[in-house]
Amino acid sequence: MDFGIWAYPWDVIDEGVDSVGDRVFNLGISELNLATNYHSVQTFNPHNPERRTFFSRASAYFQPDGGYGRLKPVVNETMGDNDWVAEIDDGFRGTPIDLNSWTVGCHNSRLGANNPDLTLRSPHGDSLVFGLCPSQPAVQEYLVNLVRDLDSRASFNRIELETFDYFHGRGSGWHHDKFHIRLGALGEFLFGLCFCDACRDIASSTGIDVSHVQDTVINAVDALATSQIPHDLATGDWLVEHPAVFEYARQRCLTLKELYGDLAGVAANTDLGAYIGMFDVEASWRQGLDLNLLADDLDYYKVLAYGSDAAETVKPVKTAKHLTDAELHAGVLPAHPHVYDEDTLLDIVGALDDEGIPQVSFYNYGLVPDKNLEWIGTAADAV
Ligand SMILES: [Zn+2]
Repeated sequence: MDFGIWAYPWDVIDEGVDSVGDRVFNLGISELNLATNYHSVQTFNPHNPERRTFFSRASAYFQPDGGYGRLKPVVNETMGDNDWVAEIDDGFRGTPIDLNSWTVGCHNSRLGANNPDLTLRSPHGDSLVFGLCPSQPAVQEYLVNLVRDLDSRASFNRIELETFDYFHGRGSGWHHDKFHIRLGALGEFLFGLCFCDACRDIASSTGIDVSHVQDTVINAVDALATSQIPHDLATGDWLVEHPAVFEYARQRCLTLKELYGDLAGVAANTDLGAYIGMFDVEASWRQGLDLNLLADDLDYYKVLAYGSDAAETVKPVKTAKHLTDAELHAGVLPAHPHVYDEDTLLDIVGALDDEGIPQVSFYNYGLVPDKNLEWIGTAADAV
């Protein structure tokens, strides 16, 4: 089993590339999953020597090359004219640590706020600022150019995709999110089902009655919000009763199939992987991800298996095995709010090894305390 660890560029730059490389190597880790293009965030950095928090709007941590269309990554303000990805790449060259690009796609509230016509649009017609819609040609062009740019610029061993899909519902939350109704899983899905002009056009071209679908979804969201439909009604059961909505949602999987073919085409020098399980592996289709359909375009999926014990961690991995024959890697969170001691982490990593998982990544270098990093070293040693 090989090990990786996610890291933010500010933590690597602040501590020093050589120091982080040595420390990671001594933990038994051979890959660093470096955030290159990332959503807005505020972090608490328990062992960063320069700062205890880092706040950022959605940003790129490299200087994008030309060749972008209407949408282009926005350079992080703290980084300024520097290029942290290039500095880290230079520092890791010739070391035993491989560098991977941890790449956020559609979840970008900065580009969304500046381009509301390219965001997801709720059934009621509101722009959902946190998510760009991957049905939009300009968004597809941006995602392909982003992967092409990353593929060409650094010695990445892998490019890993996060939210290159219909990141729906309330996303990861937003500033002072105020939802005092019980939407439930069905309501989150329907509230986030995109009815932008591109999604509507694609569905119309396949013969779907989009106005009927949109009216159906509006009525359902409003009924869920007023408890006329139970909040815990299974999404699948509801869709069986509303086949036109199912067909509308299904079309998004086919749109992403075309997009992922284009992404695979430009990732010429690296392996391409995608994160799954941010909400629930079984519900990946709600984000337009048909894991079986996309498997030909990807080298692997990384299951974000953040659990509090071995059984909880292995469960989404087993689910993913049912949904795809693709190679599976796993992500583990060895810290609050899941793991509070070394023995639990040993159990979790051992269970993933028993499942035949070839690569496990830990989340994340700068976010967990020193003590938790030591647990990672012990767990990596034990396998
Ligand atoms: Zn759309």
